[in-house]
Amino acid sequence: MGENMEMVRCLIIGSGPAGYTAAIYAARADLKPVMYQGMQPGGQLTITTEVDNFPGYPKGITGPEMMEEFKQQAERFGTQVRFGVVTEVDFSKRPFIVKADDGKTVAAESVIIATGASAKWLGMESEKKFMGMGVSGCATCDGFFYRNQDVAIVGGGDTAAEEATYLAKLCKKVYMIHRRDELRASKAMQHKVLSTPNIEMVWNSAPEEVLGDQSGVTGLRVRNVKTGESSDLAVMGFFVAIGHKPNTEIFAGQLELDDMSYVKTKPGTTQTSVEGVFAAGDVQDHHYRQAVTAAGTGCMAAIEAERFLAS
Ligand code: NDP
Repeated sequence: MGENMEMVRCLIIGSGPAGYTAAIYAARADLKPVMYQGMQPGGQLTITTEVDNFPGYPKGITGPEMMEEFKQQAERFGTQVRFGVVTEVDFSKRPFIVKADDGKTVAAESVIIATGASAKWLGMESEKKFMGMGVSGCATCDGFFYRNQDVAIVGGGDTAAEEATYLAKLCKKVYMIHRRDELRASKAMQHKVLSTPNIEMVWNSAPEEVLGDQSGVTGLRVRNVKTGESSDLAVMGFFVAIGHKPNTEIFAGQLELDDMSYVKTKPGTTQTSVEGVFAAGDVQDHHYRQAVTAAGTGCMAAIEAERFLAS
């Protein structure tokens, strides 16, 4: 081991609800956790607006504010929170070796992975411009703001289908834009979408530009990929639901991942394929993807890390 190597009992990678909850528990268990916040400190919640479904906030709270409170709570018990991105891990032997872009190399007795997932985006300039001002990656989080209005959603998988039906209950009309003439979603979800009267399918089409002004989104320009013709939809909200990808690039070859690249955990635990390495939150969950479930698994990971270190 190099002389400059720093020894850490519990290293947490990622700073969403899973990472911070793991930190609160690990710190209170005296594991002196060190956290690398990652590319997007606070995680996906920092790009949403109001959070109304996290228990304990009866009046709601904004995503960025909530994550600041998570951070303060983790620090209150002694978590060392570092602004930096982990770039390389070696889980082949113990202690685990972790390198970060602050130049530090850490030797960790246990690691909790909470790097989350990232929504895939279309990549349009206007999509970025109106992010949080009518463009959203999460209908469950933001659909509420578009009650009795017209919205559009892009995607043809189960997520898009589920979010479209969710939005249809709140909104006046939901345009569902899909690049082909057949949905990828399961038959049951397809049936649900196609039989919901206020969902209008826009087949063979791709969003071309999000239209808007200072107030936010006012419309969406879509192009029919068969005819090449463009048309504008008057919508106040635009939801992108073309899938998520787990942030697991640096773990490939180090841990078992599933066929969608999520970290595999033993059912009912946060234990990965490497003893002493735990995974919590969206990086190991493509099903629930909620802040509260991520926090729950973060707590599990810290308790499991504590037991592992004690044994
Ligand atoms: P998927 O990868 O299944 O679907 C993504 C959808 O977005 C596809 O229809 C795809 O089109 C479209 N798409 C991808 N990239 C673009 C692009 N650049 N422009 C336009 N459209 C694009 O992702 P999901 O998030 O829907 O689902 C992920 C997994 O989670 C799936 O296995 C799904 O079954 C599962 N899931 C299950 C649920 C449930 O059981 N209740 C709920 C939610 C998800 P195309 O079809 O042409 O490729």
